[in-house]
Amino acid sequence: MGPVIRRLDDQLVNRIAAGEVVERPASVVKELVENALDAGARRIRVELEEGGKTRIRVLDDGMGVPADQLPLVFERHATSKIHRPEDLDAITSLGFRGEALPSIGAVARVRFRSRPRGTAEGAVITWEGGRFQALAPAGGPEGTEVEVRDLFFNTPARLRFLKTTATERRRAVAVVTEMALAYPEVAFELWVEGRESLRTSGDGDPREAVAAVFGRERARRLIELEADGAGITLSGFLGPPDMARRDRSGQHLFINRRWVHSSPLGAAVERGYEGLLMTRQYPVFILHVGLDPAEVDVNVHPAKTEVRLRRERELFGLVVRAVRERLAGANLGRRLVRVEWEGEAGAGQGLDGGRPDRASLYETGRLFPGEVRDVAPAVGATEGWRRAAPGPEVAAAAGVDEVALPATLAVPEPGGEREAGAAGAGKELPPDETQAFRRLLRTCRVLGQLGRTYLVAEADDGLWLIDQHAAHERILFDRLRRAGSEPPVQQPLLVPIPLELGPERFELFWESREELAQLGFGLEPFGRHSLRVTALPVHLAGLADGGRLEAAVDELLELWQREGRRQPDRVLALLACKAAVKAGDALTQEQMDRLLQDLAATDVPFTCPHGRPTALSHPWSDLERRFGRRG
Ligand code: ADP
Ligand code: MG
Repeated sequence: MGPVIRRLDDQLVNRIAAGEVVERPASVVKELVENALDAGARRIRVELEEGGKTRIRVLDDGMGVPADQLPLVFERHATSKIHRPEDLDAITSLGFRGEALPSIGAVARVRFRSRPRGTAEGAVITWEGGRFQALAPAGGPEGTEVEVRDLFFNTPARLRFLKTTATERRRAVAVVTEMALAYPEVAFELWVEGRESLRTSGDGDPREAVAAVFGRERARRLIELEADGAGITLSGFLGPPDMARRDRSGQHLFINRRWVHSSPLGAAVERGYEGLLMTRQYPVFILHVGLDPAEVDVNVHPAKTEVRLRRERELFGLVVRAVRERLAGANLGRRLVRVEWEGEAGAGQGLDGGRPDRASLYETGRLFPGEVRDVAPAVGATEGWRRAAPGPEVAAAAGVDEVALPATLAVPEPGGEREAGAAGAGKELPPDETQAFRRLLRTCRVLGQLGRTYLVAEADDGLWLIDQHAAHERILFDRLRRAGSEPPVQQPLLVPIPLELGPERFELFWESREELAQLGFGLEPFGRHSLRVTALPVHLAGLADGGRLEAAVDELLELWQREGRRQPDRVLALLACKAAVKAGDALTQEQMDRLLQDLAATDVPFTCPHGRPTALSHPWSDLERRFGRRG
């Protein structure tokens, strides 16, 4: 007997389709909000419980669905949005496939209540696991309310595939955030586990929506972009180079108001920033591309997060040029500096997107204080770093990616200079060597500070240079690690420091509140997605200095976003780095002596927590040889 071919029943078909359309709570949120927008809603309220796993509720004031049409809502390929084949060639609505609700209805318990505008009464229909349950008259306000409970209750394999509640929650929050950015004329409200997480005014001003999402302070620093050509309009906001992140989480791209995940157009924006960012930095931007719907094919993927563009290359060029020109014309403020230097290794010039003080250049290991000839604000230049650089072997020896170091300091003489941390990143040397180094730190005489970056010390065996930042980082890191098992010691702040995070970043930060409190941070929620820091861990009091806390939080969020939250040592290293004395900070004799004593008391005094050496030595023998005193 041959195989038996049968037509699948609707229930099974819908469950299969649900695999493509409904991947996770965030996809349900996306479909429901898109339906609300397609219905012309001016107000949309979204509620999430357990990150949307147990309950998602979306309320809108859109046109609604008449009672007699309600059964069709859950019918496969039933839609009010397209009717004729030609409609597919120029889609103006967000939905059109008529498969979202049947798919959701196949894998959850759904209650869909609607009352068309201007009618006296509405109706409610319920579906569970792909089966119709009931249809009944219902009161309630005009518009539509959809409640989705127990997603994947009947598909245990899918349920197991979901990530943690925290991760699912963040993804769902991100969806609403994107929608709010795309539709500034719609008032969005997002409630997460009973907390209000986002609220936009819906007044139609894109800047308002951006401020509601990014926080007013960040939004103020964005550079507005408007451009058009060849029937294409571009509008949006570009983050200044110093707002760049280490991942693409700050990039928001919309094509005809549809949020698209990945597109060559995102790469085009990045191209427009070329020369303004360091490697592995990604710009923050919100870009709306508007084009004739006939030029966009949205029918590429069931979840509709990818689109195909007819004139992609032309568009790519337009975006690159528009971004580049806009940035060139923008006053990027004192944030972008032009640097010229000259050292024994050669001369060069470049742009730095860091803080305008010289220290930021030294911190990155790119320059030594002695060799900077000029630092000046740079406006609109698009150059990167140009240098007569020593080769990569020097960079490797100095433990940095990129250098322009004077040869005398950076190039190890064969058999001469040696690193205290020669054993490598964070590895401990044999105990006797550690002991010897500790004794050296305790007994050496600090002669002074070199370039406000290195402590110069005389020891029994010769000259030592100690990197003040690396040493302090190690000290703070060790203290934080040791404090981990004790009750935290807090330093209250007289003036709390506000942190504007935005909905998605707030969720990520809030997930770690207990660990942060354990370290000694005092945190208070403030507004929808902002915090007030009321106290710092006593060892991290240095973070209270202008901007350091904000920078630390930015980097923490990037770390967690990139690699998850289980990185306790990386977190401590990062906090230690941000709170530590910087290259460029002047130190008193007393502070320098203290630093060496404290370094001696650490577990691994040779390296900073990132594995870079804290100290370099020039033994007497080396000096004697180089001065020709000995052969
Ligand atoms: P599609 O959006 O592709 O048409 P859906 O399955 O998402 O398919 O929705 C099916 C139909 O249900 C829509 O075409 C629309 O007519 C109706 N509908 C769904 N949600 C709403 C809503 N919030 N307000 C008004 N009508 C809605
Ligand atoms: Mg839809």
